[in-house]
Amino acid sequence: MRTLSRIGRSIALLTLAGLIAGCAILGDFGPSGEPGLPPLADGPIPPEFTAFVESQWPAAEARGVSRATFVRAFQGVGPDNDVLVRATSQPEFSRAIWDYLDDMAAESRIATGRDMLVRHRDLLDRIEATYGVDRAVVVAIWGMESSYGAILRDPTKVKNVVRALATLGWRGGSRAAYGRQQLNAVLRILEHHDVDARHMTGSWAGAMGQTQFIPTTYLGYAVDFDGDGRRDIWTSVPDALASTANYLKKSGWQAGATWGYEVILPPGFDTSLEGRSATLADWTARGFARAAGGAFPRPGDQATLLLPAGPGGPAFLTLRNFQAIKRYNNANAYALGVGHLADRLKGGGPFVTPWPRGYTPLDEDGRAELQSRLRAIGFPLDKIDGKVGPQTVAAIRAYQAQRGLAVTGHASLELLTLLRGG
Ligand code: CA
Repeated sequence: MRTLSRIGRSIALLTLAGLIAGCAILGDFGPSGEPGLPPLADGPIPPEFTAFVESQWPAAEARGVSRATFVRAFQGVGPDNDVLVRATSQPEFSRAIWDYLDDMAAESRIATGRDMLVRHRDLLDRIEATYGVDRAVVVAIWGMESSYGAILRDPTKVKNVVRALATLGWRGGSRAAYGRQQLNAVLRILEHHDVDARHMTGSWAGAMGQTQFIPTTYLGYAVDFDGDGRRDIWTSVPDALASTANYLKKSGWQAGATWGYEVILPPGFDTSLEGRSATLADWTARGFARAAGGAFPRPGDQATLLLPAGPGGPAFLTLRNFQAIKRYNNANAYALGVGHLADRLKGGGPFVTPWPRGYTPLDEDGRAELQSRLRAIGFPLDKIDGKVGPQTVAAIRAYQAQRGLAVTGHASLELLTLLRGG
């Protein structure tokens, strides 16, 4: 799908990779901070915040949380202004998918992932036997979510999850309901003594541990694979990787199948086929071919055509397992990143078709503004919907030609800036 804005936001919301890619992090240590752990407060705790915390007690009690657990969880915890800034920032442009994928399949991430496949071979054998999920995909998710756990060891890059979610629940605007729901789940996790509140680290939006599970996902899918009685996705690699595999399996992972293929579009390709599903045999009959060469191993499998940067960039036929990966993070760019990194870990090469680099993609609001500005100066556009269909591309190309620009048809921030300037 073309809505990169949503992709960018959901990535930023859910992963530590997004946290690192974002703006500077306040590296301060609160009064209760201990070396190696993120701070719990920056100064005096406002009474409004304390009142908010107390207002969450009835819901916690109703879900079986003890008063002792509740009090201990919030001891010394104050609001985090950085979380509020992140929760309310709305960038009008999104990160280009090629920049995102360059980062996810960086040489260092590939090299470390290959080391991890060797180092944890026995563990991955057991996980694959138990859950039927491709080990390279499990390791790729680990690498994308937390750089194989490395991020958790840097207190300037993680937050205390109780603090982050309490802040969101308190004044997180459109994310307040999410913050409260997840905070309630955190208290239930603490009640079970899987982890103590001080060591519950994660992203500003509450994605926790090496797997970056939000608390409700943790409650539903985390497993104790090393058998010590605790589901520890923070410090136990067996628990973290098995939890990821369990989540993928429960999300419909099909054992023995892959996520999808990069394909070469047939000449004179019909752009309206994007998003359509058919069997790989049907796609072959229409002239689609694997970019890496060779036949599709399971021609009867259903596959959906994905053009993340339009017909001018790499094209993909995605399979059922692509949808399972999206349950982890509902973004095509994310699932593509996982699938591609997994392929690279197994020795595969980079994408064959180059990305149409060199412009800054707009988010949905930006695209809608671009459409309305083009219409205002006389280009025929039926709908202002933020979706770049053939009519919008034609209008952009006509405008670019009129202004003597390179005719690309891309809905870019550069073009919108030009239109705003008249
Ligand atoms: Ca364990």
